[in-house]
Amino acid sequence: MLASGRLPQDDASPSPPDRLFAAQVLREEAKRAGFVRFGIARAEEPPRHALFADWLAAGRHAGMRYLEGTRDVRSDPRTLLPGARSVVCLAAPYAATPWIAEDGSHFARYSRGSDYHGGLRAQALAVVAAARARLGDAWGARVCVDSTPLAERSFAAAAGLGWIGKNGCLIDPEHGSYLLLAEILTDLNLPADAPVAEACGTCTRCLDACPTGAFVEPGLLDAGRCIAYWTIEHRGPIPDAWKAAIGPHVFGCDVCQEVCPFNTGAGPTSDEIDPLLRPRSVEHALPDLAALANKGANQLRQLVKRTALRRVPRDALLRNVAVALGNTGDPRAIPPLVALLGHRTALVRGHAAWALGELGAGDVLAAHSDRDPFVVAELTEARRTAATPRTPPPPRSAHR
Ligand code: SF4
Ligand code: SF4
Repeated sequence: MLASGRLPQDDASPSPPDRLFAAQVLREEAKRAGFVRFGIARAEEPPRHALFADWLAAGRHAGMRYLEGTRDVRSDPRTLLPGARSVVCLAAPYAATPWIAEDGSHFARYSRGSDYHGGLRAQALAVVAAARARLGDAWGARVCVDSTPLAERSFAAAAGLGWIGKNGCLIDPEHGSYLLLAEILTDLNLPADAPVAEACGTCTRCLDACPTGAFVEPGLLDAGRCIAYWTIEHRGPIPDAWKAAIGPHVFGCDVCQEVCPFNTGAGPTSDEIDPLLRPRSVEHALPDLAALANKGANQLRQLVKRTALRRVPRDALLRNVAVALGNTGDPRAIPPLVALLGHRTALVRGHAAWALGELGAGDVLAAHSDRDPFVVAELTEARRTAATPRTPPPPRSAHR
């Protein structure tokens, strides 16, 4: 039976494959598809669901209202696949090389390669197809990647892929936290793996390094204080209280992962990283704020095409670029900001005005007028800021 790689099936009613053999086949096919970690959890309420519900009830999800509608689905994976009994958890590493742009600008590492949603889904679907070729198809499966309301970190931890660190990330002791997760929900009753022991110990590096103090307590994030929230999830103007805190981050933030000792080792070799998850270009690894500000609509479209950067509307991305330029403290940022001051959307013009105020560009601001009420208000405030005696910007944090 096993030598043929296929299990006997009743012609009238195919029976599901042997659970141990099925788990082994899935494990082998996951490895063949390029996943570096594999584990199995039971398809039941995820262990940390109560924490998630409390987090929502406390409003720690900031403006991410869509999460409220997912609470009940996330409590039971069987709503995603009726009859589900197991969650096969998979992980693939993304590029770990610490590229640092000259001007400090930053795209979160996971966004530098091709958009992982499609690639990971295709990889996980390939695992299912290959496993069905060996096991028969008398079993149901549904592939999930992070847009599905499944508590993937909780299941990954339950499946022994790692533990959830104080930074809220899943940490694999071997590969660190620069991992993308995918799951195969299945009605196969597979043998569950054991969780690994939490190993943060007395370390608090991530909590101490967070530029915005976003952790309410270890592992508990207040999204409304997180740079990733303001630069990716938030639409509309960024409140003044958060603009300076965003620093050079254009899309997301990796600080609480960069400082983690489990990410400072050798990391995955380039052979372990799927080519699609490596940076698409030098520009994706080392963004240049001035070049970004001067991009036309087509160039910007090309930059974000087929990457996770698409999650942010292009005018919001330029909003972030304007804020990051204002945070450089460098007068060379003034010309690209003048270009953004002429942008067609008020959102971009208003943030460019703020940034020019931060850089003390009073002459530019005095010469500029606008009819949009938001931009007019930003110009007025920016002129006031520009006229205020300046103190030098603080040095970049030590991790950069
Ligand atoms: S992503 Fe950045 S801002 Fe958000 S919690 Fe981590 S270090 Fe803090
Ligand atoms: S930096 Fe330290 S405390 Fe934070 S997740 Fe890593 S090991 Fe845990």
